[in-house]
Amino acid sequence: HCPTGALTERDDIDKVLAALADPDVLTVVQVAPAIRTAWGEGVGVPRDEATPGRLAAALRAVGFDRVFDTDFAADLTIMEEGSEFIEWIKEGKPRPMFTSCCPGWVRFAKLHYPEFAGQLSSSKSPHQMMGAVVKNTVGKQAAEQGKRVFCLSIMPCLAKKYECDVPQLATEGGRDVDAVLTTREFDRLLNMLSIDCAALPEEPFDDPLGTSTGAATLFGRTGGVMEAALRTAAYLLTGENPPFEACDTSDATPERPWTDKELDVAGMRLRIAVASGLENTSKLLEALKAGEAEYDFVEVMACPGGCVAGGGQPIAFNRELGCERAEVLNRLDGADELRFSHENPDIQALYAETLGKPLSERAEAWLHTDQREWDI
Ligand code: SF4
Repeated sequence: HCPTGALTERDDIDKVLAALADPDVLTVVQVAPAIRTAWGEGVGVPRDEATPGRLAAALRAVGFDRVFDTDFAADLTIMEEGSEFIEWIKEGKPRPMFTSCCPGWVRFAKLHYPEFAGQLSSSKSPHQMMGAVVKNTVGKQAAEQGKRVFCLSIMPCLAKKYECDVPQLATEGGRDVDAVLTTREFDRLLNMLSIDCAALPEEPFDDPLGTSTGAATLFGRTGGVMEAALRTAAYLLTGENPPFEACDTSDATPERPWTDKELDVAGMRLRIAVASGLENTSKLLEALKAGEAEYDFVEVMACPGGCVAGGGQPIAFNRELGCERAEVLNRLDGADELRFSHENPDIQALYAETLGKPLSERAEAWLHTDQREWDI
């Protein structure tokens, strides 16, 4: 919010319109977990009517050829990150391992706390994983028909625009994601095209990269990645689904602005922590450096409250809507028949047919990166 207007948000709508108009391009779009709870705000659709099904219909009305759900890739992230965490513990690497799905946090850590950069999970963020899978599967099929894929992510986040340009994230299929639109830009696009979103019938996302679980939906709020990862990590260790463990931040205090918990998983004592907001995160990192806190696994989201309150979400004058939006994600998780990432049938098929298993050579090549190799 620069008072002189010298700074403006980067607008990528023209790039998207050009791809949509190009007959040689197959347009693929994916939407982040936090979009489904906020997109209706900018197009006048009430929260309970702005469903994921109506969101998928709105994306088709814009003209995208394939409509995928980043929730699918959030499940994939959990499979990779959960497996990575188990290996991390077995190998006795320095604790904690930090989540890395928030590029705002990754950039902050690399700039201000480089001593922790080697402890960031190597798992790419969900939309980058989705992009890598799309470019290396759908992209190859499209190339046989003389087309190239344009992969668009609709995200609650401005930092994702920076993240998708990082060259070290590219795979043999090329860059994972070609452009990112924020929720605000997406709503502007819908308004520009005069799409009557409220009147659209609900539609499913495209298969096979559109099926997801309630665990993935939780990625959109603080504590959600940790909750989803623990559901699957416990299963990977014991072969049984664990009881649901909420990782909310209600016990955070101004002096200790993060939440933590000790869990017993398969006889292993795990100390976990969840922080959101970079000022709060700094306090947690300082406590870790001073030896005043010790954890095995830490989730960090740069925006206070997580992506529901992300920098690219619709802005309501004098109102903070993060909690209200997070409630929608909790409801969607509770109502989902599938609530564990490892139970997603499309994820199981992707491993059976293409990736082999989590952390396989191909999974490492497509879905992981060495966070220390990025230049800031
Ligand atoms: Fe982006 Fe904020 Fe979400 Fe991080 S928490 S991924 S910076 S919207």
